[in-house]
Amino acid sequence: MKFFFQSLFFIFLFCLTVTSCSDTKKPIKSKTDIKVDSLLKLMSLEEKVGQMTQLTLNKVFRTKEITEHTVIPKKNLENSIVKYNIGSVLNSVNHALEAGAWRNVITQLQNATKKTPHNIPVLYGIDAIHGAGYTLNATLFPHNIGMAATRNDALVKQAAQITAKEVRASGIRWNFDPVLDVGRQQLWSRFPETFGEDVTLVTNMGIETIKGYEGDDLKSVNSVASCMKHFVGYSAPKSGKDRTPAYLSDIELWEYYLPQFKAAVNAGAATIMINSGTLNGVPGHANEYLLKTVLRDQFKFKGVAVSDWEDIIRLHTKHKIAKTPKEAVKIAVNAGIDMSMVPSNYSFYHLLIELVNAGEVSMQRIDEAVGRILKLKFDLGLFDNPYPEKEAIDLFGQESYKNAALEAARESVTLLKNTDHILPLSKNKKVLVMGPGANSHACLNGCWSYTWQGQREDLYPEQEVTIVQAIQEKIGTKNVIDGSFSDFKNPKNFKTDLINKNAKNADYIVLCLGENAYAESPGSIDDLTLDANQIELAKAAIETGKPVILVMTEGRPRIVSSFVDNIAGVLQAYWPGSQGANAIADVLFGDYNPNGILPYTYPRATGDLLTYDHKFSETHKDLKGNKPAVFYPQWEFGFGLSYTTFSFGEIQVSSKEIQGNETIKISISVTNSGKRDGKKAIELYSKDEYASIAPSVKRLRKYKKIALKAGETKTVTFQLNAKDMSFVNQQLQRVTEPGNFRLIIGNKQTVINYVK
Ligand code: BGC
Repeated sequence: MKFFFQSLFFIFLFCLTVTSCSDTKKPIKSKTDIKVDSLLKLMSLEEKVGQMTQLTLNKVFRTKEITEHTVIPKKNLENSIVKYNIGSVLNSVNHALEAGAWRNVITQLQNATKKTPHNIPVLYGIDAIHGAGYTLNATLFPHNIGMAATRNDALVKQAAQITAKEVRASGIRWNFDPVLDVGRQQLWSRFPETFGEDVTLVTNMGIETIKGYEGDDLKSVNSVASCMKHFVGYSAPKSGKDRTPAYLSDIELWEYYLPQFKAAVNAGAATIMINSGTLNGVPGHANEYLLKTVLRDQFKFKGVAVSDWEDIIRLHTKHKIAKTPKEAVKIAVNAGIDMSMVPSNYSFYHLLIELVNAGEVSMQRIDEAVGRILKLKFDLGLFDNPYPEKEAIDLFGQESYKNAALEAARESVTLLKNTDHILPLSKNKKVLVMGPGANSHACLNGCWSYTWQGQREDLYPEQEVTIVQAIQEKIGTKNVIDGSFSDFKNPKNFKTDLINKNAKNADYIVLCLGENAYAESPGSIDDLTLDANQIELAKAAIETGKPVILVMTEGRPRIVSSFVDNIAGVLQAYWPGSQGANAIADVLFGDYNPNGILPYTYPRATGDLLTYDHKFSETHKDLKGNKPAVFYPQWEFGFGLSYTTFSFGEIQVSSKEIQGNETIKISISVTNSGKRDGKKAIELYSKDEYASIAPSVKRLRKYKKIALKAGETKTVTFQLNAKDMSFVNQQLQRVTEPGNFRLIIGNKQTVINYVK
């Protein structure tokens, strides 16, 4: 009944507004815009500023355990929702909830809004960046860095669709994802959250993620609003440490950091989160040029811009560009921040009201920000039904999701070395499984996995296995010598006398090294080299004389050059998620033919951190003449082996010349010339031979994943136009200059010409 009267109320307001606008020349407004305008007219300044305020659940809830039945203390709830009218709440940090407990939380928050003047529902936001990471038993997929290794856009979209369902089943409708930061600084602790070092990969996979989350309609029980982040330059800290300054030339910014945001805006992303750090000295939350001129005027973004955690306060406390907390609020709101992730007090609320009353922030700016927030709430269907939807509940935890997570993990695993075809291993031999990664869930799932840091082993579902358990299931416990101890810090993992004893009866050693889970600043490191104790362990394993297979579960590439030449086989598994251990065992013992390829350049030395698309002049001759004057990383971007072999025909082009805007077809036949069925990522690179600014040695332009049966041949065709081969010039225009372009697919090349 209440909804009936609410609807009547909006129809009435709608009619009023239409009449009053009928003779103006303003663009015709959508029904939602009209509802938003009408509601704005009824709201007080306090209510509006409340809508712009986002608090953490801990602040609202202030109680430890949350179950399906926990009752939020009335005082806390009414203080936040009724007194301050806060518009949004975000996830907690150290523990995950059952989906039912989430629904309980959401229901109580929405119940409280019924006591507010206009019943404006609360918008709950969560970080579900590789699955619904704060919900117990949710499906966790590989992190983006692994998804990028699949080169399979369809898998990326499917993972996002499943995540959207599991988030919405908890009654939550806003996901702070995708991370669109490009991963060109490998020290950065959020590197695993990126789709790697190439902007085409980041753009394509970012868009697929947004499509997967948002679907065609945010009202659908299959959808959640996405949040592209972090705008912009966050991923390029000069020191490599999280939330430290980035310095990027305009050309770099427009070439590698902004295109994905523009494409994501065009794909309809509903919201955006702002960079916590500074770019060229200006904090992201104060950068009016980027937030207004670029994001709003040029990219035409219409959605909500939310601050990152505490970042308005930090304009005063950390970045020191605001003399007072109040000035910080003024700078950020005037620069274009619509919602403040405050998140632990009401300072933003009080200060913003004071600023508006003093005329230092205009009412127009407040209405613009609140209008965007209300529109999002209407678009998400929160005004129709703010409660967890019954139809959404069954969408949690379906059996098929596990298969999707397994498939994604399998396609991500990247075989980097396979001396004398040591892999796949026989299932009838004895294997010593050891190393700190062998018996840990955290190093399979990484950050944002049931907790922020992902390190609480007790929260991982019982039925999910670690690497040693997956190998035991695969080849039987009698064939496995378990030399592993849970926890990366456990000294028992590094005892060399134990290795010698265990190795005596083993035919092979599977050595699991890499990184334990970490997120954000706690994951900052000083050195990309693998930890010294792990290197020592690897050397001890090698010294046993048994063939060693290295399995790496790691968010960033940790340098292994001091010992890897003596390792027989290397699998890079990234942080592969809940089915990661099964995927690793499948590849090790030949039940799956690996096809992941590197989404970054794996460095050989800490002083040689080039990306694949470096400039010609970035490789240099060693003055002593000892080293080759070439690019020599440990493994190149795009590298990954298979248990079968593929051969390529010559590249066929529908025309040797591209004129103006025309599109040509580039085809190549690919044959599985080996004895096993397999998948293969086919990549098309272009090389601009001469250009007005130094061109990159090559750039990835297109890619496709194909499946080929043993002996089968398929033709892969790409469409290519001049825009696909463009770059940002000195005037910051995206141009393609006439001339020759070399096209490269696998070991084949051809040259085409572009004429204006
Ligand atoms: C991170 C964001 C995240 C937010 C909310 C911040 O510390 O930088 O990526 O969305 O917390 O959890």
